[in-house]
This record gives sequence, C-alpha cells and structure tokens, in this order.
Amino acid sequence: MSSIVTIIDNDILVPTLQKGLYALAACSIIGTAAYLGYKAAEPENKNILQNRNPELNERIETVLESLRLGDDSLRQIMQLLEQEMDTGLSPATHAKADVKMFPTYVRNIANGSETGQVLALDLGGTNFRVLLVNLLPQGEVRLTSKIFVIPQSIMLGEGVNLFHHLADCLVDFMKQEKLNQPGVHYPLGFTFSFPCHQEGLASARLTSWTKGFTCAGVVNEDVVKMLQKAIDEKNINVQCVALVNDTVGTLMACAYKKPHTSIGLILGTGTNACYMETLDRVGTWNGDYEEPKQVIVNMEWGAFGNNNRLNHVRTRFDEEVDLSSVNPGKQIFEKMISGMYMGEIVRLIILDLMQQDLLFIGQCDNYGDYRIPLFIRGGFYTKFVSTVETDEGIAFSNTRRVLQDMGIRNPTYDDCAIVQHICKNVSKRAARLAGAGLAVLINRINKPQITVGVDGSLYRYHPRFKRNMEKCIKNLVNKNIKFEISLSDDGSGIGAALTVAAEVLSCQSDKNSSDKQKPKQRRRSHV
Ligand code: ADP
Ligand code: MG
Repeated sequence: MSSIVTIIDNDILVPTLQKGLYALAACSIIGTAAYLGYKAAEPENKNILQNRNPELNERIETVLESLRLGDDSLRQIMQLLEQEMDTGLSPATHAKADVKMFPTYVRNIANGSETGQVLALDLGGTNFRVLLVNLLPQGEVRLTSKIFVIPQSIMLGEGVNLFHHLADCLVDFMKQEKLNQPGVHYPLGFTFSFPCHQEGLASARLTSWTKGFTCAGVVNEDVVKMLQKAIDEKNINVQCVALVNDTVGTLMACAYKKPHTSIGLILGTGTNACYMETLDRVGTWNGDYEEPKQVIVNMEWGAFGNNNRLNHVRTRFDEEVDLSSVNPGKQIFEKMISGMYMGEIVRLIILDLMQQDLLFIGQCDNYGDYRIPLFIRGGFYTKFVSTVETDEGIAFSNTRRVLQDMGIRNPTYDDCAIVQHICKNVSKRAARLAGAGLAVLINRINKPQITVGVDGSLYRYHPRFKRNMEKCIKNLVNKNIKFEISLSDDGSGIGAALTVAAEVLSCQSDKNSSDKQKPKQRRRSHV
C-alpha cells in the first residue's frame, strides 16, 4: 500500500520538517517584531518612543513638555483673557487694551428669512474670494465664487494698489457671471479680516495690519471709502453696504441655519472670535440703546498676550516665530494657534531635535543646506501638520512623503513617529488655547444652549482640531450649558451677504415705520 509516509523517505522528511520549523520560528520572530514595531509607532500610544534609547526619549519629552498646558493653566489663561476683555470694553482703558473688543454695529443675527442676490468680497489673509450669494426662501443659499491671488508685492506695497486689485478682481468676476446689466444696482458686503475700529456698518478704520500684510497708507483710513473709490473708478454699479469681520460673517452664516449661534470663530491664516454681547456690558458703545439691546463684539483675540501676560506659557519656539515675523511683539495668542505659524513652530522643534542629534540621526550632513525646504523659514506648511496627523498605524506613508519632500532621505519609523508626535503636541496646544478662549465666551453668554460657528482651513482640514477643542471645553464650561461647535461652510463670505440683506431689511423697516408711523418691526428682507 502506498501512503504519503511511505512515498517520502526519511532522508527527505527530516530536512523538510526542519525547514518547516525554521520557517515557523522565522514567522513568529517577524510577527513579534512587526507587533513591537506597531506598538512603538501606534499614534495614540503614550509610550510612542519606547524603542528609542530612553535617555534620548526623555530629552525629546523635555522639549515637548513646554507645549503641554493642563486644565489649571488653561483656567488661569481664561481669567487673564476675561480681564483683557473688560479692559477692551471699558472706555477708560480701551485705548491701551490689546484685546480691542470692537463693537460691530451688527445687532440682529440672520434668521433664515433674508432673500436676494448680494455680491461679497472676502479678504482673509491667504485667500481673496469674490462671491455671488443667492439667498433663497427657506434658508437655502446658492453660491458662485472665484478665488484670486494677492501677490506678495501687493501685500507689502501701497494701499491704493491693494484696493485697485480688489476692484479689478470684482470686475473680472462680474464679467464672468454676466453681472453687468445697465441699470441694475448690486449691493456688496466686504469681509475684511483685519482689526478695524468700526464707526458704522459701512465705515471702519484699520487699526493695524496683521497676517503678513503691511500695505502703506491704510492704517487709520476708512477701508470702505478706499474700496468704494476703487470700485467707482471702474464704472460698475456696485455699492458697499456693509463691512464685516470674518468672525462676524461666520457667526451670521451659521445663525442662518442654527438659531442658537452666538459665537463666531476663525481658525485660518489667523485666529479671532466674536460673540453677541449685551449692550450694558459694552462701555465703548456709542450707538442707540433701542431693542435689541445687544451687539456683536469683534474681540480681535489674536492680540491677547501682546502685553507679555502669556509669557509664562510661551516657549522659545514661539519667541523665535514672533521675532522672525513682520510684526514682532504683536498677535501673540494668534502666533501660538493659527495656520500662518503652526507649521513653522513644528519646523523649529524638528530643527532643535536634529541639532541635539535626537532626530534624523545621520542626516545632519545636510544641516544648513538652504536648498532643502526643512531648513527654509516657512518650509514646513501647516497643511503638512494635518497630513502627518492623518497617518494611523505603522506605515507612516503620508509622513514619509512629507519628510521626503522636505529633503529628508529615507526617514526611519522612529523619525516618522517623532515628527508625528511633535505635530500632535503643537496642534493640540493650539486647539486647547482656542478652546479656553471659547470657554470664556460660553460661560459669559451663559445660555442653556450655545452654538459656535467656525470657519477657516485649519479647523476644516486638521483631523483632530475639533475633537481636541471640544474635549478641553467640556472641562472648562459650566456643566448646565450645552454647546455645539459647527463648521460654517464658506461662512465668512456668505455672512457678509447676510449682513447686507439684514441691513436692507432694517432700512426698509425704518422707512416703512416712518412712512406709516408704525413702530419698527422685523420683516422678511429682499435685496
Ligand atoms: P484665510 O485665512 O485667508 O481666510 P483659510 O481659512 O483658507 O484662509 O486659511 C489659510 C490657512 O490655513 C493657511 O495659513 C494654511 O496654512 C492653513 N491650511 C491650509 N490647508 C490646511 C490643512 N490642510 N490643514 C491645516 N491648515 C491648513
Ligand atoms: Mg477666511
């Protein structure tokens, strides 16, 4: 009888079994190694760097420790911010305040009933957009828009050239959309996201440039007048009816969909927030005290810390980012949070660890090679922070790609894990600082339900910003308040259009009440 045992003789069987056992052992070793590798590189693993020389890990952790802010630190920062807010709101101290708390003249939030067609310009800091916003019944919004570039030469040049450029882009867009019919009048909302002392809805003086702009001849000038002059020179029938800060636009656009919205937040090139404040708390208010006794206050919170009050939480990397900026000593809170600076903080930490021989070991021969993006100021974009943090598991394919693009040859697992660890620490600190700021506002408004509308690419694209912010706010706000953080899609531009529509509504209402001697009342608006 022939069986498998009889066919394979002993000489063949023993080596075959041996080979099998060797293969099994090899598989187990490879499997264990892969598991240990995975554990070492696992994103949420606190011992992420456990395979490294512990002495090196401790040194890395010492550097990153300076970025970690516990809840007690945040509570202290909240107290400081609230003091700064009161300084900004009081007429006696407003002039010397860093957090300016500008009243905006926007007193009604959109309620979803506004309809009509409005043009809007949205000058953010990185992007400039022209929009045509169609506000349809039942709160539906249809939008067409075009993004234009603001060349560096214009950002740093003469102010008049900036406004000519904005008007040129508007003309270009109107041609594209065939909005040049004779006799038709187009109202325009202008989202201008720089600190302005507002003197009316369509009148605002720039107090200082931020976010890399330094155009000459604009500070202290009325930017609506400058824009309108440039528009009029183009012979187009467009009238700027309202200037809004991007935070205000964001609040308005979110409120159009969610009625409990009372805070607007920007997390883009810069950061800032606005909220609905009761008039009796706004000492600097010089308008009327009719109903509604409230006004949206544009905080300009990016300037929090300009007077050194945040020095105890700033790191040497923050100081370096500040010193190499176009506005040293200014926008201190913003420089710890926003998109314009986050990537640069990460880059400086990477360079520091490289210099200490804790990262990219053996690659330091490249150090100081200015053709390699990693060594160029601004070379590590904030969008890379999002890309790196999107990696889960051990492959680090995104991180590897980013590092290779930055000029790092063959980064190791450890290199990738450490860079991701740095990104997570920097972005988490930013989210917690912004969260502490929001917690101040939520506690101050103190309504049972509060929605925060947020716009800006950092918030929109970073994989953890929202989650980190929410987690921290939960620990800092009064337990009886329910809060919700909601993306206000295209909020800053749509909000300007809504503000225009709300203004037309209020003008119509005023006209009607004086025509018919009726008390002022809220009506549907059509522009
Ligand atoms: P603006 O501030 O002009 O209104 P955005 O809201 O688009 O424009 O913000 C631009 C900022 O967002 C830039 O500083 C950029 O670094 C940052 N950013 C762009 N893409 C991302 C991304 N994927 N993840 C994180 N930040 C990003
Ligand atoms: Mg914007």
